[in-house]
Amino acid sequence: MRFPLDLSLTMGRYIAARRLAGVKRFPLVLMLEPLHGCNLHCSGCGRIREYADTANQRMSLAECVAAVGECDAPTVSICGGEPLIYPEIVELVDQVLARGKHIYLCTNGQVLAEKLPAFVESASRSKARRRRMFRRLYWNVHLDGMEATHDAIVEKGGAFQKAVAGIEAAKKAGFYVYTNTTLFRQTRIEELVELGELLTRLRVDGMMIAPGYGYEAVRCANQDTANQDEKKVGHENDGESFFLTNRETHERFREIRSRMKRFRVTTTPVYMDFLCGERALSCAAWANPTRNIRGWKAPCYLITDNHFATFRELVGKTDWDRLGPGRDARCEHCLMHCGFEPAAVLHGGSLFNLFRLAAWQLGMNR
Ligand code: SF4
Ligand code: SF4
Repeated sequence: MRFPLDLSLTMGRYIAARRLAGVKRFPLVLMLEPLHGCNLHCSGCGRIREYADTANQRMSLAECVAAVGECDAPTVSICGGEPLIYPEIVELVDQVLARGKHIYLCTNGQVLAEKLPAFVESASRSKARRRRMFRRLYWNVHLDGMEATHDAIVEKGGAFQKAVAGIEAAKKAGFYVYTNTTLFRQTRIEELVELGELLTRLRVDGMMIAPGYGYEAVRCANQDTANQDEKKVGHENDGESFFLTNRETHERFREIRSRMKRFRVTTTPVYMDFLCGERALSCAAWANPTRNIRGWKAPCYLITDNHFATFRELVGKTDWDRLGPGRDARCEHCLMHCGFEPAAVLHGGSLFNLFRLAAWQLGMNR
C-alpha cells in the first residue's frame, strides 16, 4: 500500500461525512508551522525569506494545539521552518496524535537521528501511545536529489548524509518514513531514478515529487539573493529562473510517470494526470490551510494577502472563486500540491478515477 490503511480509511470516512452533511469547503490537511527558524538555508525556500523578521519567534504549544482543534482537519502536516528544532516538538506530536489526528512531520532530517530517541521514549510510556506513534506519525524527509545536488540546493555539505542517516534510524525504530523531493529546472530524471533506487533499498514507504514554484516570496523578496541562489545551484548561465514553466513541468512529469513506475511515488493518479498536463483541476487551497506565528495565512500556503486571527475568518473572508490560474495572475504557473492535490482527491471522483485510486493505493498500477 502507498499510504497506511488507517490514514486512507480516516480520510475516506471524513470526506464522506462532510459531503453527506453538505459542507462545501472543508480542510483535509492543516499545514502547521510552529516556527520558521531553520538549521538550513535552501535556495528555493520562500519561508525563510518571507518570515525572516519573525524567524526567532515561535507559536506556543497551546496555540499549536488550539489551531489543530479549530481547523479539525484529519491530518496535520507539521512543517516550518524545521519543526525538529521546536523545543516542545515531542509534546506537540503526542497531543496532536491524542486528538486522533494523523501527522506528517516534515523535516530536513539534519537532527532526525539525534531527536528520534525522545519520540521512541515517549511512545514507550503506554501501549496506546506506542500504537498512536507508530501508526499515525509519518516522517516526511526533504531530499532534493542525490548527494551533490541535494547539498548544493540546501547549501550545506554533508546534509544528504545526515538526512539519509535519519531515514535509516527512523526505519530501524519502526516508523513510517516518506520523502519529499522538489523538482527544479536542473533536476535530472536519471538522478531521480537513482534516488528511487536508494530509497527502495532504505525501505522508505513512499516518495513524493512536487514541482517547485517561483512564487512571490522566492522570486521577489530579494532578487539579488535569488540570483545568488541560482548561481549556487549551477544555473547562472541560462539567465532563467531555476523554477520550471508549466510546459516544462508537464514534460518532466510525463517522463517521471513512465520511468519511475517501479518506485513508490505517492502522487495520486488524478494529480499526476494534472501534472502531466492531461487534465484540468480547480485550485482547492481551502483544503490545505496554513497556520503560523502570524495567524491563518490567506489565501494559501504559497501567496500571502493576509493573516486572519481565526480559521473561520480564513474560510469565510477569502474570495476563493477569484483564485487559480486564469483568475489571479499570481496563480498562473501554479501546479502545487497544496492547491491541486486536494482538488484531485475531492474532484477526481468519477467511478473510473475512484477505481484507479484504489488500484494505485494497493500498488497495482505502479
Ligand atoms: S529545510 Fe525547509 S524550511 Fe529549512 S530552509 Fe530548507 S526548505 Fe526552508
Ligand atoms: S493556484 Fe491555488 S495554491 Fe496555487 S498560488 Fe493560487 S491560490 Fe495558491
